This record gives sequence, C-alpha cells and structure tokens, in this order.
Amino acid sequence: MPTDEFLVPFGLADDGRLVARDAVEKGHRYRCPECESNLIVKAGDVRRRYLAHEANTACEPESLAHKTAKLLVAQVVNDWKGGHGEVPMVERACPSCTVLWRAPLPARISAAAVEVSVNGRWRVDVGLTQGDQVVAAVEIFHTHKTGGEKADDITIPWTELRAAAVIEEPLVWRPVGGTKSGKACPTCEKGAADRREQEARRREALVKLGKSLNQPVLDGAFGTSSQRCWKCHKETLVYRWDGQPWAKQAPSQKPPRTVKFVFSKTVNHKYWANTCGACDALQGDHFMFNEPTGAFYGGAFVAPVVQRSWGEDRTGEAAVQAFLNRALGR
Ligand SMILES: [Zn+2]
Ligand SMILES: [Zn+2]
Ligand SMILES: [Zn+2]
Repeated sequence: MPTDEFLVPFGLADDGRLVARDAVEKGHRYRCPECESNLIVKAGDVRRRYLAHEANTACEPESLAHKTAKLLVAQVVNDWKGGHGEVPMVERACPSCTVLWRAPLPARISAAAVEVSVNGRWRVDVGLTQGDQVVAAVEIFHTHKTGGEKADDITIPWTELRAAAVIEEPLVWRPVGGTKSGKACPTCEKGAADRREQEARRREALVKLGKSLNQPVLDGAFGTSSQRCWKCHKETLVYRWDGQPWAKQAPSQKPPRTVKFVFSKTVNHKYWANTCGACDALQGDHFMFNEPTGAFYGGAFVAPVVQRSWGEDRTGEAAVQAFLNRALGR
C-alpha cells in the first residue's frame, strides 16, 4: 500500500457504478470518482482489498469524499427504484420523545440525479425527482455548511448529510441540516391517534347522554364533562368555565339551562353552579373539582370558599391562591 496515499472508499467501474473498496474484483478497472484517474486495485483477501491513486495525484480527499457521497446518494435511490436495492432510510429524532427513528424515503420519489438545478437558480448536489419534477434535494455537507441565501431559496424539502456518514452507510441518511420534518415517531403517532380516538368516543358518548337530558355538549367558553348525580344517581352533563369554582359572577357567555345561580349550604352562599340534568339537584363545586369521582377532578386542588360575615370571600384563581398561601404558610 502506498503510504503517502489516501485510500479511495469507492471506485467508479466502467459501467458507471460506484463499487465499494471491499467489493472490487480482480481484472476490473476502477477510476477515481473525483479525478477520474485509474486506481491501483488490490483485490486479494477481503481484508486487504483497497483502491488507491497512483503516485503524484492532485486529487484531494475532501473533494473525493464529497463527490463520492453525492454519487452514492443518487445510486442508492436509483437502485431502490430500479428494484435492486433497499429503500434508503432517513434517521431523525422524534420531536415528541426525542428517540431516534428511521423513516423510509417516500415511495412517490421516482429517481435521483446529481447536480440538478432548483428554481432555475441553485444547483443542488442531488435532486430527488417525481416524474420530471425535482421534489426534494440532498446536499452533502462541506466545510462550509449549506446556508444563508441558498438555504432560504430552496423551496423544496432538503436535507444535508455528511459525506463520511454517507460513505460509511449509504442507506441510512442522518441529516445534519435542512428542512425540519417535525414528524413524530410511530409510537408517539400511535399514542396521539389513540388519544384522538378516545376523545372522539368520549365526545360521542357525551352527545348521546346530552340528547337524552336536553343538555348540549359545548366547547370553547364552556367545557363539558359528565358525572353521576349524588341524588338521583343518574349520569348528567356538567360544565366548566373560567371563573369557577364558586363563581359569584355570571359566566361571560350565556350558560346552558342547567347552570344556575343557586344557594349552597356547604359554602353558605349562592354561586353559579351545575345542576343535575335529570333531577335538578345542585352538583357542588367541591365534589366536582376535589372528589375523585367529580367530573373535573385531577387539576390542582381547589379550596372551597365559605362565606363569612366578615371580609371578602374569594373565588376562582384567588381561591386557589388563598389555599396555596395557607398550605405553604405564607
Ligand atoms: Zn482522484
Ligand atoms: Zn416519539
Ligand atoms: Zn340527579
């Protein structure tokens, strides 16, 4: 092995394909992908196979790596589309759980070509095409990162890969720059889908219950949930709005018929409260917010505000604050 020479990771065969150093064959000719000069081929035992320039080459390792990576990216895409290679995978961190996961290139990509122009202005290292449209780009990281004006101007999704990483593992792309995908991993996607489905089923059940009790399911100013009435033991819809608990101010929007300004013996004053859709019994805020079977249990503990003959009573945020102050001894 020439000691003053760098090894060439992939040689260009006569059919234009890149061949890995450990896959070169005796009796074949390989050229350097960058300077195109003939390479010295040592093709004995696998562990001792190598490709190297002949002496006195002007070829430069960084340019060679860059060119090799570019050609490799196009080659693996075209091999995959040609049916004689695996689909390249893009490895990213899930924005939700940060785990690294790999997604296959989208099947709609039909081919790849090196050095294609985008927007009639910028040449990208590799263009991924769909029909005759360049739909995505791959840039090979150079000493200067793809940045500034060019990055802003590439209006298609693009990804930036390190040459060394591509040469090491051409089928696994590990972006170091480019368009953020924001796509969550399959586990997180599944979790989110399950939650949406659960939410939809829950809502369906609420709507059904509401119809039977003439109570609407509301979003926005009023949140809707349900709980079992302490008096008639039937399930009833109850509502949550800004200003609870023990709201002495009327809700800012017209409340549903079961939200009424009623007297509570527990707190010894009137407040805007939920009542049962079936039997009209008061659904007290203490039960609703602080008891495990209450509809809105699970948030911060809400301290009841008992009317006294002196001073100001407090509701809503002020009540929570007052409770915290007591609890923390402030
Ligand atoms: Zn060369
Ligand atoms: Zn995740
Ligand atoms: Zn009831």
